Amino acid sequence: MPEGEKPNPHGAAGSLGGIKLFGVPIRLHFTFVLLLVFLLFIGVGDRQSGPMTVVYVLALFASVLLHELGHTLVARRYGIRTLEIVMYPIGGVSRPERQPAAREELWIALAGPMVNLLLAVVLMAWVAAHQGFQAIGELAQPTDANLAERLALGNLLLCVFNLLPAYPMDGGRILRSFLARHRTEEEATRIAAGAGQSLAFLMGLAGLLYGNYMLVFVALFVYLGAFQEGAAARGRILTAGFTVGAAMITDFRTLEHGATIRDAGDLLLKTSQHDFPVMHGGQVIGLLTRAALVRAMMTAGPESYVAGVMERAFVRLTPETPLTGALPQLSVAGGAALVMDAEDHLVGMLTSEHLSAFILLRQATVRQASGPV
Ligand SMILES: [Zn+2]
Repeated sequence: MPEGEKPNPHGAAGSLGGIKLFGVPIRLHFTFVLLLVFLLFIGVGDRQSGPMTVVYVLALFASVLLHELGHTLVARRYGIRTLEIVMYPIGGVSRPERQPAAREELWIALAGPMVNLLLAVVLMAWVAAHQGFQAIGELAQPTDANLAERLALGNLLLCVFNLLPAYPMDGGRILRSFLARHRTEEEATRIAAGAGQSLAFLMGLAGLLYGNYMLVFVALFVYLGAFQEGAAARGRILTAGFTVGAAMITDFRTLEHGATIRDAGDLLLKTSQHDFPVMHGGQVIGLLTRAALVRAMMTAGPESYVAGVMERAFVRLTPETPLTGALPQLSVAGGAALVMDAEDHLVGMLTSEHLSAFILLRQATVRQASGPV
C-alpha cells in the first residue's frame, strides 16, 4: 500500500539485530529470549541430539513467526500496515497501525491459526509418507526421529490454543468480531476480555492444582494480555472523535541543540517533563527522551551535547491527526511524539502519561454524563 507507507522510525527500538520480514520489524520480548534459553537448557542431555534441539526450537519459532505473517499479510490486503511483531513466550503479537473493522478483524484473526493448521497438515503428510506415526505417548520422549511429528503436533496445538474464544487469543478477536455485529464495540470488547480473564483464572487454578507451572506461566500471560487488550480498546473508544490537537501538551520546555546533558538533567529535575524537543534556529531537529538522557549521563558524561544522543527519527503528528490513530504510533515510539503544524513548526507534544490522564478524564466525563448506575 503506497498510502501511509512511510518508514517507521522506531521499529529498531528494542529489536534484536533489526530483523525485518515483509518490511515489518520483529522484536523479541525479553521473556521470549528467557524461554529459548530455558528450552535449550532442558533439551540438552535428552535422547535428542543437541543440533536437533536447536532445529526444533528454531522451527517452533518459525511457526509462530509464520502465524504472525499470516495476520500481517491479510491485514495488508485491507490496507492496514503492521507497525511491528513482538514475540512473547506464548506467541507473537502483531501491532496494526489501526484497529481493523469487525469484518476485517475476523479474517485477519483467522489467518494466523490457519497458517499453523496448514503447517501441521503438511508436516503430517510428510510423516505419513516417510515414517508413519508414533503414538502420542512416545512423543513425550523427544528423539531426532520424531522431530517432524512433534512439530506437526506443536503447530496443531498453536492452532487450537489460538482459537480459544478469549482475548488476547485470535479466537477472542473472532468472538469479538461476531459480537460487534449486534453490540457496541465497547460491549463486544468487554465480553471478549472478560472471557480471557476467566480462562486465565481457570488455567492458573488447574496449573496450581496439578502442579503444572508451565500452565500457570501461560495463564499469567493470558491474563495480562486480556487486561491490555481491554485497556487498549477502552482507550480507542474514549479517544474516538478527538484530534491530537485536543489532547496534546502545549506548555512545555525545549532544549537548544548546543545544550549539554547537564542542562538537560537540570530541566528534567525542575520540570515534570520526561522528553524534550531539541531545537535549532526555531526548528525541531530531535527529541531527547529520559532514557536517552540517563544513558548519555552514564556513558558520555554531563558535558556531552544533547544533539549527539537525541532521537533524530522521532514520531511526527499533526494537530488534525485523529487521536485514536495516534495511539499505536505512540506506543511503538516509546511514549512521546511531537506535533507539528503545516509549516513544520512545533506546536505541541503528545506523551503516553498525558494521554492516560486525558483518557481518565474522558472516562470520568462519560460516567458523569450517563449518571450513577
Ligand atoms: Zn495470532
